[in-house]
Amino acid sequence: MLIGLCGGICSGKHAIAEYLIQHQGFQLLELKSRKFPRIADEPEDDRRLQASEFTDKERSQSPQLLFESAESLLDFATKSWQGLWVTTDIWESVTLDRFLQRPFFLLVSVDAPVSLRWQRFEERCRRRQLEAPPLEKFVLWNDRHLYDKNIGRVYLTDRAQVRLFNSSSSLEELHSALAGLNLADEERLRPNWDQYFMQLASLAAQRSNCMKRRVGCVLVRERRVISTGYNGTPRHLRNCNEAGCPRCNRGEGGGVGLSTCLCLHAEENALLEAGRERIREGTILYCDTCPCLTCTVKIAQVGISEVVYSQGYNMDQDSAAILESAGVRLRQFSPPRNGLIYLEGSANNKQ
Ligand SMILES: [Zn+2]
Ligand SMILES: [Zn+2]
Ligand SMILES: [Zn+2]
Repeated sequence: MLIGLCGGICSGKHAIAEYLIQHQGFQLLELKSRKFPRIADEPEDDRRLQASEFTDKERSQSPQLLFESAESLLDFATKSWQGLWVTTDIWESVTLDRFLQRPFFLLVSVDAPVSLRWQRFEERCRRRQLEAPPLEKFVLWNDRHLYDKNIGRVYLTDRAQVRLFNSSSSLEELHSALAGLNLADEERLRPNWDQYFMQLASLAAQRSNCMKRRVGCVLVRERRVISTGYNGTPRHLRNCNEAGCPRCNRGEGGGVGLSTCLCLHAEENALLEAGRERIREGTILYCDTCPCLTCTVKIAQVGISEVVYSQGYNMDQDSAAILESAGVRLRQFSPPRNGLIYLEGSANNKQ
């Protein structure tokens, strides 16, 4: 596994890499010369401040882990993909494209409040016996570093699979948050079957045209998709979101006037699409919302073996009771949350 860390100035990339090296058995892969693309009118001091933060202890003593180019670094990681590697030396979009093609690579972005980054920056200046520039200059420099059209890091951070927000005020806090997060979890690289099918169900939900609630459903047998469905009005009728269903468009509370609703549910559409013939023993229904009562009886009747849902619905208990008496397994699976993860306190990061 290779983790690439990217992010703004003093966001905490090095601290996170250090944690992975000291506590999770990772080794650092570095480029021999850190030739950053130069920002126009950037003072020399700032260049010196960008120099590597790694101490000799964290650096591998082995010259084999120092590379002439990002390509040779990637080649090495490809041949040694069973190892645990970390790098902070990716700063070009074209390079990142090649890294992202590899199944062992995880891009992690790190961000932090500018006030906190400024504090860390001042400390770094003190450590290197340099005079810290005024805050205004730091902010301007920072804006260019992130948003410059040609070299801005935002092109990298935008593509990160995991986004960390490092608002922790001490290393201890950061370490306990990272311990709870387990960045090195292999499932971050490749979704397991539950994640895969639940994501397909969520994708189907995006096609929904129902004004009340978007729901998606996928039927799976022997890890193959039999059919998909989302909720909305039947074919040839006007879409629900174009006023096709008067009941949904009245905006009444959930459950009111259900019998006058023209929208087919995602589960109904998936069952109709598959047909009784193709639904056999072992068929699993993935749905991003727990099925309602009227879908539940149909699910039981066509012979679905298991229902997996991610979000609860207000009739869960009744649905669960029916499925249980019909001999259909029911379980909840919520895919790991993507997007922003706050790194503060060990209690807050249990996704
Ligand atoms: Zn509707
Ligand atoms: Zn409706
Ligand atoms: Zn339903």
